[in-house]
Amino acid sequence: MKKLLATLSLVVLVTACGQGTKESNDKNQTLIEMKKTDEYWKDKLDPEAFRILRQKGTEYPHTGEYNLHFENGTYLCVACKEPLFTSTSKFRSDCGWPSFDRAIEGKIRNEHDASLGMSRTEIICNSCDGHLGHVFRDGPTDTELRYCVNSVALNFSENKKKK
Ligand SMILES: [Zn+2]
Repeated sequence: MKKLLATLSLVVLVTACGQGTKESNDKNQTLIEMKKTDEYWKDKLDPEAFRILRQKGTEYPHTGEYNLHFENGTYLCVACKEPLFTSTSKFRSDCGWPSFDRAIEGKIRNEHDASLGMSRTEIICNSCDGHLGHVFRDGPTDTELRYCVNSVALNFSENKKKK
């Protein structure tokens, strides 16, 4: 009887482990699919953000909420909420879009963009693959970079004041 119980426990244990692995694999698979499915983002983002982040659109210049916005805090990806830029890297630019001289390390990747007959460097959110804007080598600060970002692609989180 003892032996039978031991065998049964073993079977239950093995089955439980097996199920656990399968479930976590399925979950990872779902996450990967979510990252890439337009239907998922269509549901999650408003139409203008979807057009810009998922279809590589551009908002009209001088219209964005954060174009001339200079509060202390962090700018996050509107889709996945990852921090992308800090307010200390933001500078006043005449280009009509929020401009930064550097991104938070590891949060953004560059890709060559040959669309519209131009050669530009597209900037993409590393965590959700959303299109953010472009980076140009004409920045006024020591980095000489100008991250030109669609305001719609950003959310702002204000730094809490120290008491
Ligand atoms: Zn993102």
